[in-house]
Amino acid sequence: MPSYVIMEKCDGCKGQDKTACMYICPNDLMVLDKEKMKGYNRAPEMCWECYNCVKICPQQAIDVRAYADFVPMGASCVPLRGSEDIMWTVKFRSGQVKRFKFPIRTTAEGQAVPLGGFATGTDDLKSPVLCTEPASTWAKELPTLKK
Ligand code: SF4
Ligand code: SF4
Repeated sequence: MPSYVIMEKCDGCKGQDKTACMYICPNDLMVLDKEKMKGYNRAPEMCWECYNCVKICPQQAIDVRAYADFVPMGASCVPLRGSEDIMWTVKFRSGQVKRFKFPIRTTAEGQAVPLGGFATGTDDLKSPVLCTEPASTWAKELPTLKK
């Protein structure tokens, strides 16, 4: 089920030009109702249920009803993101609660090297391989069709 905003929790990211959910949605679905100062998903049918907005919302005001294959019917799955890790809390309809915590970075915040440090060039757009390839694949040579 697509993402939805729990209105009581949303504070409109305190009226910033771009809310956190607007910033992160890869499908440009989240918008801010400036009159009500509430975010909402403007096209739920286009939602990929990727959880990005759920994870970034500072108020934990966005939810997605998770697929039954990892959260059984009637349960909920809520992430809480920190700077170093993310905690997923799954509440089952029986009342049982399980928490799973995972690290989310291997590089200190702000220290990631763009493109992994691999070189790019102005001819990249003409190249049949992806940006930073073949060096970033660690292969000596990429397979190609022999002419
Ligand atoms: S990120 Fe959360 S608090 Fe901010 S506007 Fe979106 S739903 Fe509301
Ligand atoms: S779940 Fe993903 S695609 Fe759907 S609104 Fe949130 S960020 Fe956008």
